[in-house]
Amino acid sequence: MSKSEQLFSQAQQFIPGGVNSPVRAFRAVGGTPLFIERAEGAYLFDADGVRYIDYVQSWGPMVLGHAHPRVIEAVIERARSGLSFGAPTELETQLAEELCRLWPGLDLVRFVNSGTEATMSAIRLARGFTGRDKIVKFEGCYHGHSDSLLVKAGSGALTMGVPSSPGVPAALADHTITLSYNDADAVRDCFAKMGNEIACVIVEPVAGNMNCVPPLPGFLETLREVCDRSGALLIIDEVMTGFRVSLTGAQGYYGVRADLTTLGKVIGGGMPVGAFGGRREVMEQIAPLGPVYQAGTLSGNPVAMAAGLETLKLIQEPGLYGRLAEKTDRLVEGVLDAAKEAGIPLTANKVGSMFGFFFTEEAQVSNYQQVMACDNQRFNRFFHGMLEQGVYLAPASYEAGFMSAAHSDEDIDRTIAAAQKVFAELAD
Ligand code: PMP
Repeated sequence: MSKSEQLFSQAQQFIPGGVNSPVRAFRAVGGTPLFIERAEGAYLFDADGVRYIDYVQSWGPMVLGHAHPRVIEAVIERARSGLSFGAPTELETQLAEELCRLWPGLDLVRFVNSGTEATMSAIRLARGFTGRDKIVKFEGCYHGHSDSLLVKAGSGALTMGVPSSPGVPAALADHTITLSYNDADAVRDCFAKMGNEIACVIVEPVAGNMNCVPPLPGFLETLREVCDRSGALLIIDEVMTGFRVSLTGAQGYYGVRADLTTLGKVIGGGMPVGAFGGRREVMEQIAPLGPVYQAGTLSGNPVAMAAGLETLKLIQEPGLYGRLAEKTDRLVEGVLDAAKEAGIPLTANKVGSMFGFFFTEEAQVSNYQQVMACDNQRFNRFFHGMLEQGVYLAPASYEAGFMSAAHSDEDIDRTIAAAQKVFAELAD
């Protein structure tokens, strides 16, 4: 029995499913999750001491790679002065100022402890600001696990949402409208029918929770347009894409501006940090300035702020995002070539350092239905084959992959060579 198998069996005695976030349990792909001992740069080391090239990177935050020495140093240094005070520190202002300086459209920003809290609070703020209850989201986008957002599409195109989890009241789900991602006509139609009841649209500007699906030209612009016309707020959820697809996130990449932006992952450098921010007159509605309540005992935690600040300093190194995109291109092209050689139908999407592979005959994947129609069995075999070759991919076909600044050309070449080997086995 491997150490991971042993640890997983112990974990299941005390933790539901043995994990503290469901996808970690490998339910989608089968088998035993790796228990991680430590990580460094592009690599994970599991409890059995095996090294893996990691393309999960803690689901996005580690854009510099794991355990960057300067980030670790900043955390240790800060921890010596105390872990939490429940009172303001200068570090919070420094990180907020840096975010507002770098990010167009951020006038004020509030820190929270996760992406879930960021989107949940942004939705409450949008409802409080507009005095409206309905929200629009898109099929296949994930914005954390708050009640209003754990809602799937109803049966008709414009029916109200239905809870996608027990425990979410139907009455609440009723206020969430779920439309098809990249369907600008459906958005226009919805706003024509009930635009003046809608508080906000929330969107992943590059969908990273149904594999990796970029916006089609005009989709984000349509959202901006219908919001401007109806008085709804546009919430661009950059928890995954922020400081990942570019230094100014997907908004900088695509040239579309949100009213409210949610951030997480990279801005905490691996520590639990989320944030929401945006237009001054909207953010001024948040307590203590305004009536919309939001709070957090550990929010703006000094150690987490220190990790975020050091990470933001490091990612401003000139050329970093260009290099990340080049490495991603090299990986994606190499894996696509390998699939072609083996006669395996494979399509890929990529934006900056986010990427995704689809086992499908379709030349382009741009919505949830297409993602759902991909060959999952084949993905699962690919996943386990790559794992055996020392490459750690996300343990589900509905997740984006991430490149870090620490991945070397050699790591990428080894990954492509591993894919060649695995595709040859899959083709048999
Ligand atoms: N929004 C997006 C776009 C995300 O990808 C995620 C998590 N992957 C969240 C929100 C929720 O963040 P957290 O897991 O930190 O609550």
